[in-house]
Amino acid sequence: MSLDPLVEFDLLVVGGGAAGFMAAITAAEQGVQRVLMLEATPEPLSKVRLSGGGRCNVTNACWDPAELVGHYPRGQRPLRGPFSRFASGDAVAWFADRGLDLVEEDDGRMFPQANRSSAVVDCLRQAAKRSGVRLITSSPVQSLAGDLSSGFVASCRSSERFHAHRVLLATGGHPSGRRLASQLGHRLIPPVPSLFSLTLDAPQLRGCAGTALDDVALTLVVGDERFHQVGRVLITHWGLSGPATLRLTAFAARALQASRYRAVLTVSWCSGWSQADLLAALRGQRIQAARRTLSASRPLTAHLPRRLWVSMLEVVGVAADQRWADCPAKIEKGLLDQLQQCRYPVKGRGPFGEEFVTAGGVDLGEINLATMESRRCPGLHLAGELMDVDGVTGGFNFQHCWTSGWLAGQSIARQLAESDRTP
Ligand SMILES: Cc1cc2nc3c(=O)[nH]c(=O)nc-3n(C[C@H](O)[C@H](O)[C@H](O)COP(=O)(O)OP(=O)(O)OC[C@H]3O[C@@H](n4cnc5c(N)ncnc54)[C@H](O)[C@@H]3O)c2cc1C
Repeated sequence: MSLDPLVEFDLLVVGGGAAGFMAAITAAEQGVQRVLMLEATPEPLSKVRLSGGGRCNVTNACWDPAELVGHYPRGQRPLRGPFSRFASGDAVAWFADRGLDLVEEDDGRMFPQANRSSAVVDCLRQAAKRSGVRLITSSPVQSLAGDLSSGFVASCRSSERFHAHRVLLATGGHPSGRRLASQLGHRLIPPVPSLFSLTLDAPQLRGCAGTALDDVALTLVVGDERFHQVGRVLITHWGLSGPATLRLTAFAARALQASRYRAVLTVSWCSGWSQADLLAALRGQRIQAARRTLSASRPLTAHLPRRLWVSMLEVVGVAADQRWADCPAKIEKGLLDQLQQCRYPVKGRGPFGEEFVTAGGVDLGEINLATMESRRCPGLHLAGELMDVDGVTGGFNFQHCWTSGWLAGQSIARQLAESDRTP
């Protein structure tokens, strides 16, 4: 599809992802007449479709903006203002108003009631169509020039050119969007991976692959920095994954990258128990299971998986026929250490979790976070993953897209209406 070169638009949105759609719909619903969205690929919203294992974790039932910011390793403090204007509850209401109900799971993650990401894609596409947003796909923007006084000219690979009074850049983690932002004067914080699992030097855990545990405390020491998380972990063939590990690597993303992913991880497998509780549990075994072997009867059976316990016995060097009744104090101490503070050298980055995001992007100091307008280039707005904001897993990354897209759309509509009124 081709348009006349330099046809006028009020707003050009570059990037048809979650943030771009939210901004375009919001601006159009607020009365901006000519909204054009250019998407590089043949299909918009492809990450929404892929997300949450095909179910799309749209947001999180974390209603308090002050608590919500705690889920963003980058952007924590600056996001207080934006979330006080549009947070998770607003996103839930926004989708409900457009016919998409979200339901909360036990851990707070919120998914479409239909349990399919296509329901979110359909909702956004229909809302865009209803509000008159024009979408052109397979049109990667290659350059952007201009400023508020003359408007912007966007050139696409097909050599089509578009003129717009305002531009919103919402190109996600794609390098071409970063290039456009830097052409317009922005400083980019270099991208580094976030939300990945850890590869550990821990041969003793290999036999436990596939085992999941709750309430595990992880302490990661990277150079002179320490990071701590408590929660569910999954033992994998290469090391550790699961929500607590992904949160840990998100917060430690920059430090880990700087150390070339060399660090030391201390794992407390039973963080819900004090040292005295654990000692009591081990001593209880001596009485209740005196005649049984250590491998046949383990403490904390509801919490501690058998395969992990057996691997601890191997590390401590417990003989196969060792009975609880005559378990030496040295072994008891070794087991206590295993339960409480196993140290594993980190050998590298493991595969990513279900969600992949990059830390880094346009420096937040260069964006007015009340309007998402660039402080470097008036008339240019930014939203979504292109900004130096990233959240942990659980719907927080999309929440930032809804918030920044909504604020950008509102402010663009307000500013265009004001400029129309100015003689
Ligand atoms: C597999 C996977 C699962 C995920 N699951 C979840 C989840 O369940 N919950 C959650 O909160 N987060 C999830 N995330 C993270 C989430 O998808 C991103 O944070 C979010 O998609 C970012 O949205 P965005 O609009 O900023 O960028 P994107 O979704 O990346 O959209 C940017 C769009 O811009 C287009 N574009 C780029 N450059 C140009 C250009 N020059 N011209 C025109 N178009 C351009 C791209 O093609 C793309 O369509 C997941 C990520 C992945 C990879």
